[in-house]
Amino acid sequence: MEKEILENYHKAKEVSDKVIEFTKGLVKENKKILTIAESMEKKIFELGAKPAWPINISINEVAAHYTPDMNDPLTLKVNALVKVDMGIHVNGYIWDRAFTVCIGKESHPLIQASEKALQEALKIVKPGIKVCEISEVIENTIKEFGFNPIRNLCGHGLEQYNQHAPPSIPNGKNTIQTEIKDQAIAIEVFVTNGAGLVKDSFPTLIFKYKQDKPVRLPEARKILEKSKTEFEKLPFTKRWLNISPFKIDLALKQLLDVDAIFDYPVLKEETNGLVAQAEETTIVK
Ligand code: MN
Ligand code: MN
Repeated sequence: MEKEILENYHKAKEVSDKVIEFTKGLVKENKKILTIAESMEKKIFELGAKPAWPINISINEVAAHYTPDMNDPLTLKVNALVKVDMGIHVNGYIWDRAFTVCIGKESHPLIQASEKALQEALKIVKPGIKVCEISEVIENTIKEFGFNPIRNLCGHGLEQYNQHAPPSIPNGKNTIQTEIKDQAIAIEVFVTNGAGLVKDSFPTLIFKYKQDKPVRLPEARKILEKSKTEFEKLPFTKRWLNISPFKIDLALKQLLDVDAIFDYPVLKEETNGLVAQAEETTIVK
């Protein structure tokens, strides 16, 4: 990997270390998740980087893709299993990581399983290792704790301005022979006491630029423009848009109807099992 690219990754990682430290004091009982997400995003900018997507704060059986809505009243309750997923980028080079907290508790068996599986996977990652070898370590470690991996959620490669590049690295055992090369990858472990599958659910709070299309509403045109310029074709959310709440849903619907943007619905464990997540990015070399 070129020196300049590596420097961007190092800067993004450095910022993410500081943001994680800062976040630890925030994820507490009775805290509003809107306050947590907004203060983390503000901190990222203050430290000279940008959020690669809205901070995801997903609770209990919600595995991913929840980010606070405009005026979101949700607060953290005791025993809630809270996953905080952040992407921090410098010039498009993204550091992707996530951790889970059980509110009011030191830890939780699901958290321990997710962190152990992440550590075991990181230990074996090197150039030439096959995707199936990483997945096997993840599933075996999770099974030792008596839990299930979420089979349809995956780790992944990272490329400039691409938060989900090949290869996909599933949490469940498979036969994928693809070898990891000199690249940035995120190992992303999801553990549940449920069946181990997520499904699309409601609401949808995260969107991303797909392609230029003509749209009628001026607000829709404004969102499409921002998705390219301000958000650099990376994921964004409603509370970032500064558009009248009365027009926002209609504008987003128009953009979805003409296939101008992607949408990322909230992902829930299909048997409503509790979910913990542990994720880290690593530069393989
Ligand atoms: Mn992530
Ligand atoms: Mn990820």
